[in-house]
Amino acid sequence: MADCPVCADLMTEKERDGIHIDVCESHGVWLDKSELLSITETERHRDGTFLFTDLFRTENVTHVDHSRTLNCPYCQKQMAIEKHHGVHMDWCTDHGIFLDSGELSALLNNLRLDPLFVGGVALRLFENKY
Ligand SMILES: [Zn+2]
Ligand SMILES: [Zn+2]
Repeated sequence: MADCPVCADLMTEKERDGIHIDVCESHGVWLDKSELLSITETERHRDGTFLFTDLFRTENVTHVDHSRTLNCPYCQKQMAIEKHHGVHMDWCTDHGIFLDSGELSALLNNLRLDPLFVGGVALRLFENKY
């Protein structure tokens, strides 16, 4: 379990399909390394509603200043910011990624529009990295 990199409160662990996600209701979700791949794989094979998008309250989505930097809740190192399918991800090479509220659903929606993702190819982008 980790502290939210934005507000430093302890995040709540939620589980879907055996994947454990740390959630801060106000700020977003933390995904341990390779969990984003598991999630995108699960969602790629699903029709209809996303399993994961109820994990944060969408009415709390606030404008995020992407010039900000966050520190990894595990090693405290400054995380890199990477833009992927229109979404900013705060990324620690050793531990995982933080997605602001709404960004997980945005990422999944954008991936679904990508024919490479639907064909399974775009996932390789995530395989070793996230
Ligand atoms: Zn928070
Ligand atoms: Zn780290």
